[in-house]
Amino acid sequence: MNRVSKRAWVVLVVAGLILAALLGFVATYFVRAADWVSFPGSPHLYSGVNPNTGVVTDRTGVQLLDATDERTYSDDLTLRLATIHLLGDRYGYIEAPVLGHYSDKLVGFNVITGLYHTENDTRTAALSLSARAQSAAYSALAGRKGTVGVYNYKTGEILCAVTSPSYDPDNVPDIANDTTGAYDGVYVNRFFSATYTPGSIFKVLTTAAALEQVAGIADQTFYCEGSTIVDGELITCTGVHGTQTLGQALSNSCNVAFAEITQQVGRENMEAYVEKAGIRSRLSFDGVTTAAGNFDVSDASVPSLAWSGIGQYTDLVNPCQYMVFMGMIANGGEAALPHLMQQITEGSSVKYEAKTEMLKSGLVPSTTELVARMMRDNVVNSYGTGLFPDVEVCAKSGTAETGEGKAPNAMFAGFVKDERYPLAFIVVVEEGGYGSQTAAPIAGQVLSACIADLDGGN
Ligand SMILES: [Zn+2]
Repeated sequence: MNRVSKRAWVVLVVAGLILAALLGFVATYFVRAADWVSFPGSPHLYSGVNPNTGVVTDRTGVQLLDATDERTYSDDLTLRLATIHLLGDRYGYIEAPVLGHYSDKLVGFNVITGLYHTENDTRTAALSLSARAQSAAYSALAGRKGTVGVYNYKTGEILCAVTSPSYDPDNVPDIANDTTGAYDGVYVNRFFSATYTPGSIFKVLTTAAALEQVAGIADQTFYCEGSTIVDGELITCTGVHGTQTLGQALSNSCNVAFAEITQQVGRENMEAYVEKAGIRSRLSFDGVTTAAGNFDVSDASVPSLAWSGIGQYTDLVNPCQYMVFMGMIANGGEAALPHLMQQITEGSSVKYEAKTEMLKSGLVPSTTELVARMMRDNVVNSYGTGLFPDVEVCAKSGTAETGEGKAPNAMFAGFVKDERYPLAFIVVVEEGGYGSQTAAPIAGQVLSACIADLDGGN
């Protein structure tokens, strides 16, 4: 009798454990199934590393990719070249982290019936991107290596994120055997993953630090006779600028003045403002993590510290991150975290909608207003308003020396100060020479395309 009751108990306990495990699995299945199905490498969804699911459009409904069956890209060659780094290729050489990140929402996985892939329930991902701006940026780069980014600093919508070189996914060149260098770094999304010596666009940050940390800086003047000696080392300027205010020094992009200004700001304050601007931080959104920039003056000599405030020395910035910093200057010290995925829909049903998240720099609005006004003066006095659409564009150019016998990189960064078009931007043309000559006109053309889309015009 005793033995029988013991056996009955063992059977009951084992049955109970099996039931508990089964319930646990079912519960986990309901919660996690979509993740399991859309894991990178899932044969249901992926070719290479890029998901095959859904239709992808730009902000105006222009179709960029139909991945419901095979990957069908745009009919337009320039648009294919301009968007491959965001959509990914067929073989996974170029990753599409954004589409991968939302693959569970794109595939429409149903826990009861499993995957569904019929005509009627195709999901559409509308990116915040402007196809018009993408094509304008790619065309304006004209085969040169570099990147162009534009985003709405109030909402976070990325309208333009072009990287060059690129290639046509429908007519893949023999990249492995190319000896011309034309495809160097072709698989890299330079906007998210590259870092560049900023050159003089960095003087915007040094100016903001000086306005907040050097008492009476606005009343000082700085004298430039073409060069100066800092602690025994020669700092050269691009011209002979004479006596200048802080604003004029920024407009002249005077190295002699900024060598002096950086020393007055000092090592610790420069470090603190690099933190406020987020130069060394990575941005994370939509499955994208940007490259971190660099600013390290811990062992820098006095002349090296001076060069660091001029945007040389070991300074590096990531284009996407620096564009956000431009947004912070435009918008009273805070700017939206960028995003590319705007909305995912199935018919009239919304499956995902982007939310705006603000990033704060700690810069006060009175500072950013002053810096913005100086950057506006730059455009009016140095670059010419004729290069840009008829809105209040504020900007700073850079001609970043990278050494190794190469021509400097042309840099241009800034923003539009207009409630209708709250756009921050950055342009990098590798070995492009002068930023004001090479990169500024590209910014003008791409901003015009963005504004046309925001106006809903044709
Ligand atoms: Zn000068």
